[in-house]
Amino acid sequence: MRRAAPALLGLALLLALAGCAPRAQTASVFAMDTVMELTAYGDRACVDEAVSLIHALEARLSVTAEDSDIARLNRSGGGEAASDTAALLKRALELCKLTGGALDVTVYPLVRAWGFTTGEYRVPEDALLAELITKVDYAAVQLDGRTVRLPEGALLDLGAVAKGWAADRITELWRGAGVKSGLINLGGNVQALGGKPDGSAWRVGIRDPFSEDILGAVSVRDAAVVTSGGYQRYFEQDGVRYCHIIDPETGRPADSGLTSVTVIGAEGVLCDGLSTALYVMGREEAVRLWRENEGFDLVLVTEDGEVIITEGIEGSFTPMGDYADKEIKVMRRG
Ligand code: AMP
Ligand code: MG
Repeated sequence: MRRAAPALLGLALLLALAGCAPRAQTASVFAMDTVMELTAYGDRACVDEAVSLIHALEARLSVTAEDSDIARLNRSGGGEAASDTAALLKRALELCKLTGGALDVTVYPLVRAWGFTTGEYRVPEDALLAELITKVDYAAVQLDGRTVRLPEGALLDLGAVAKGWAADRITELWRGAGVKSGLINLGGNVQALGGKPDGSAWRVGIRDPFSEDILGAVSVRDAAVVTSGGYQRYFEQDGVRYCHIIDPETGRPADSGLTSVTVIGAEGVLCDGLSTALYVMGREEAVRLWRENEGFDLVLVTEDGEVIITEGIEGSFTPMGDYADKEIKVMRRG
């Protein structure tokens, strides 16, 4: 009896520890035009609530669903937005300003003319593009609380920021529920909550824009890793590739010399908005914007296959495969 006690105690301790370690709860959903994978170490309800949240956000923010908040605002030239739509629009307008209009939430007339979002791709006439460009101007959008006013012909598209916003909202939900570890993968937008359950950092792979492989991985805790790239959605006509990210200045698919932009930082919506904008702006402007602002780091890949990272991730980025032996340029602030 006496000798059995320590063994029993040990067993009880083991069971207690096993009971404390939260199990991985996962879900896979198709929403916002992509496959999404959620993992949270906590209660099942956390993941189920995150799935509901994604569907609710999509129903509000989709530019194509007729009864969405955005479609309704676009049809009526404005109106009352739901409070979270208004909150996202407010943050998105700040990012449009920060990027000098490379990100422009009123780009939809152009996106639609090229057939993105409907899938009926075409190269619009120059005259049509010239006319549509005049409708694109985020600075003319008026937002007062939840009241939105759009100038004549302007149409909102929050597609460049919606996934980052969704990941921020899920992170907030999980933090509130006491989840210490989780990973949100919204197809190109990855957001980590905490580190892995064993305390180590999450390693997030970055796609090689020239193949199906990974060009490297970045180790993160409590951070988003968001990639925009021409390879993600495009069509080809007469041997020319047209990508889904539009330069609001030319009305044409961005052609800045970059082939992918990854932004790493604590705020998902910032990373999402910037990844789209910096893809439009190109290498020089992207590095300039990074030097002038805090809160994010970059992995840029040029059309020539050059990889440029910023100093904040020098110690956490590992090039892999074809890139393991390549020179990685590190940009510094000073
Ligand atoms: P992302 O995948 O985050 O880079 O966002 C690309 C999506 O944002 C496109 O499919 C369009 O719906 C929209 N978009 C394209 N170009 C722009 C732009 N310059 N500013 C804002 N949204 C854009
Ligand atoms: Mg984006």
